[in-house]
Amino acid sequence: MTKQAMTHRDAEERRDTLPDDGCPLFSERLEEHLVAASRGETPNRGRFCGDCYTPIGRDTASCPHCGNDTERGRVPVERVPDEITEILRVQRKVESTFVNGFAYLGLLVAVLGGLAIVLGIPYLREHLLAATIVYAAILIVGGRMLAGFLGGYYGDRIGFARARARTVESWQEWVARRSVDAQN
Ligand SMILES: [Zn+2]
Repeated sequence: MTKQAMTHRDAEERRDTLPDDGCPLFSERLEEHLVAASRGETPNRGRFCGDCYTPIGRDTASCPHCGNDTERGRVPVERVPDEITEILRVQRKVESTFVNGFAYLGLLVAVLGGLAIVLGIPYLREHLLAATIVYAAILIVGGRMLAGFLGGYYGDRIGFARARARTVESWQEWVARRSVDAQN
């Protein structure tokens, strides 16, 4: 639970400085809106930037996130397209899959590493009680640390990179489809 919360906070911190990859998804405000809408806490209605779908005010002339001009650029929309919601759902799923996967890997390292340590010490091999205590300590402390470290650090970073790549790809497809639709 704590790890999950930490991961999201880290993700939000990074989101303030989104990689300059030409994809304006997702502004913090848009992500907050979509998460709340998916929970039914808020209706998917309002005024959103016609380009990056960041929620904007009634009189906003220029999107604070992507700079889109609401009059001369893409006109604002009243609801975020379902495709955009789906892109966020996939992004978060990829992120959490990596965080959890790496956390389990950390646990596995503690289980096997702990076994190797206990079996590698002759004294422990001959004293079952001592061996059990040492092994339990390695599992509890080491397992927790390794799961947190691998999941929260590597899983978080790799997951973010993979999820981001997928989001950028989906965004490019969406933009291509959007411009074809606009011509028809
Ligand atoms: Zn925008």
